Amino acid sequence: MEKTNGRRVILFPLPLQGCINPMIQLAKILHSRGFSITVIHTRFNAPKASSHPLFTFLQIPDGLSEAETRTRDVTLLITLLNQRCESPFRECLTKLFAESETEEEKQRTSCLIDDSNWLFTQSVAESFNLPRFVLCTYKFTFFLGHLLVPQLRREGFLPFPDSEAEDLVPVFPPLRKKDLSRIMRNSRQSELLDSYLQKILETTKRASGIIVMSCEELDRDSLAESNEVFTFPIFPIGPSHIHDVQASSSSLFEPDQSCIPWLDKRETRSVTYVSLGSIVTISESELLEIACGLSNTNLSFLWVVRPGSVHGRDWIESLPQGFIESLDEKGKIVKWAPQKEVLAHRAIGGFLTHNGWNSTVESICEGVPMISLPFAWDQMLNARFVSDVWRIGIHLEGRIERREIERAVRRLMLGSEGEGIRERINALRDEVRRSVQRGGSSSRYLDDLVDRILSF
Ligand code: UDP
Repeated sequence: MEKTNGRRVILFPLPLQGCINPMIQLAKILHSRGFSITVIHTRFNAPKASSHPLFTFLQIPDGLSEAETRTRDVTLLITLLNQRCESPFRECLTKLFAESETEEEKQRTSCLIDDSNWLFTQSVAESFNLPRFVLCTYKFTFFLGHLLVPQLRREGFLPFPDSEAEDLVPVFPPLRKKDLSRIMRNSRQSELLDSYLQKILETTKRASGIIVMSCEELDRDSLAESNEVFTFPIFPIGPSHIHDVQASSSSLFEPDQSCIPWLDKRETRSVTYVSLGSIVTISESELLEIACGLSNTNLSFLWVVRPGSVHGRDWIESLPQGFIESLDEKGKIVKWAPQKEVLAHRAIGGFLTHNGWNSTVESICEGVPMISLPFAWDQMLNARFVSDVWRIGIHLEGRIERREIERAVRRLMLGSEGEGIRERINALRDEVRRSVQRGGSSSRYLDDLVDRILSF
């Protein structure tokens, strides 16, 4: 049994895999520091309470219909959740506090920690006199930068006249103009996006602090700039999954464990791991290009194709039968992988990724070089850091073509270029891992965060 400090922290993750994982990991870290944990969550994408028996889980209705839960439009999903969850969330907190019988017990709740995309939680928290921390699950450079988009538009920089321009976006390097044009193309009307971002900025400014799933070693410049925007402390506590707390899965899908014995039989650093995360969807022809590109390398690959991620198809049935039969020992396709375990496996030599922040950081922490295939939002910036700043990967520049994929995999896995990339990512891995060890920057920020929460 952990020693408790008599304080409770309430967490409210956004119901997306990339937000649930770091939030649950943060819960484990805070629990190891003596806090009791209450997780309020929506019915949609509810975390598996049975995997975390030491936490209290409270489900609130989210009002989403079956059809709405299947939408691929994340912006729409977040908008609906914001419209429909405010009252249930408020009621849940009211009930929670009412159940704490005495005033003394009521004060045991120290703070609320939730995602910046929840737009109503700051006001609700204020009405309960509850300090709120925002958990930033993006690279902090993106968090700061995306809040400046409305300003860029006001000042006439957006939209860019040339949507394929290679030069850098002012105030948002190393993002290129073509990257930001792509991010904007995927978002619905610009006024809606701007007012949404404005609201995030306004509510975040009223919070008590931001907890960042990054570290000084990865985000030094943007952290230094944060005091131009925010007056409260920022806590870059490092990648949550490498803190020394007991591992348990917060996966919404069942990971296919057969990946591990399959990897055990492969040579060291011989396999390319391919995954585009929990949200990205591709067309049938893109699926085929990736399949042919991987197969043409004649090197081994482990490929995650999420059911429902190929437009109009259930899974991989559109791939030619001959391809699936020819996979043989060389390739393995699964519906969901135990990704952190896979990346830590000695057989993995490269990661073809969409560069979601969790995947990017997980890859860095295991020293696995990347091939970047970003699709939207913060992925575009993370990929630029990987290829242009840290130089720990190869950028596909959006070309989902078999020849390009084959070439990138070969360059990374076989060439001397790959060796250089591997050396650089191993050095970065060591720095990031050192930051969470005693005396490291992330470890010190975590101590500060715990002190701050205890001070309320
Ligand atoms: N993940 C996993 N198995 C898979 C694919 C992804 O466990 O087969 C996990 C991965 O380890 C990461 C998360 O899902 O923690 C994806 O988050 P990320 O920020 O990379 O991308 P998103 O899904 O938000 O686009």
